[in-house]
Amino acid sequence: MSHTPDESTPGTQSAADAGPSFRSEVTVELVKHSASDSDVLWAARVSTAGEQSLEELQKDPERSKGLINFLMRDRHGSPFEHNSMTFFISAPIFVFREFMRHRVGWSYNEESGRYRQLESVFYVPGQSRKLVQQGRPGKYEFVEGTPAQHELTTRVMEDSYRQAYAAYQEMLAEGVAREVARAVLPVGLYSSMYATCNARSLMHFLGLRTQHELAKVPSFPQREIEMVGEQMEAHWAKLMPLTYGAFNANGRIAP
Ligand SMILES: Cc1cc2nc3c(=O)[nH]c(=O)nc-3n(C[C@H](O)[C@H](O)[C@H](O)COP(=O)(O)OP(=O)(O)OC[C@H]3O[C@@H](n4cnc5c(N)ncnc54)[C@H](O)[C@@H]3O)c2cc1C
Repeated sequence: MSHTPDESTPGTQSAADAGPSFRSEVTVELVKHSASDSDVLWAARVSTAGEQSLEELQKDPERSKGLINFLMRDRHGSPFEHNSMTFFISAPIFVFREFMRHRVGWSYNEESGRYRQLESVFYVPGQSRKLVQQGRPGKYEFVEGTPAQHELTTRVMEDSYRQAYAAYQEMLAEGVAREVARAVLPVGLYSSMYATCNARSLMHFLGLRTQHELAKVPSFPQREIEMVGEQMEAHWAKLMPLTYGAFNANGRIAP
């Protein structure tokens, strides 16, 4: 993780000059973590038993599972905050606009468009992305696009991205500052960020940004942020299986 500005001059040759590339997927890497079910147990049991060893906590797995489930069900949320996960996420800018609305229990650092030339990587929906929205606000459903709609979407997006990136490069080549030239780039451009959260803030995020059959309160997130959420969820489930199980068993409502 570095804040050091890139020293390259605006408009210098880079991989970006090879021409735009197009992607349909998002990536989420778990770069750092200190997160386990024991963290929840420790925090919860200080209420009744004071300081306890890890061995003591792990003596009775059924009791541990029961306690975590009780905390989740009755929404005793703070024991789920004593842990930390840092993800490195690569996704289009429009995903990050939605992501950063999550203010509580999250820290963010995103790549800079002022200190470095932004790379020409752009989002184009894959074949499985449902393209057509039907219904009214609050009651939308998405249905498959036709092959013609997919072809059109890919062609129009790629043309538009090429044009926007060429305009960006033209300004950089003439010495216009990166922070000014970037104004022409669209929200389909890929960016990357570190996002650090704890299990409680992640559960709140997942409750809102994923659709799941076990959710007691349904949500209707945009598919692309849901793709990020699904990958974070898969990492978290491995780190904290009891907490993850209790989250699902209690309707995926953050405590
Ligand atoms: C399907 C969907 C559609 C959306 N559509 C839109 C949209 O059209 N336009 C738009 O602007 N946003 C939209 N949002 C964003 C949404 O309004 C929230 O900003 C976002 O989901 C983050 O939720 P949050 O505020 O609960 O999370 P956080 O900011 O992480 O806050 C967590 C919790 O802390 C408490 N809290 C935080 N800040 C305050 C505060 N200032 N005062 C009181 N309590 C606080 C609340 O209990 C909150 O639930 C959408 C979100 C979803 C999931």
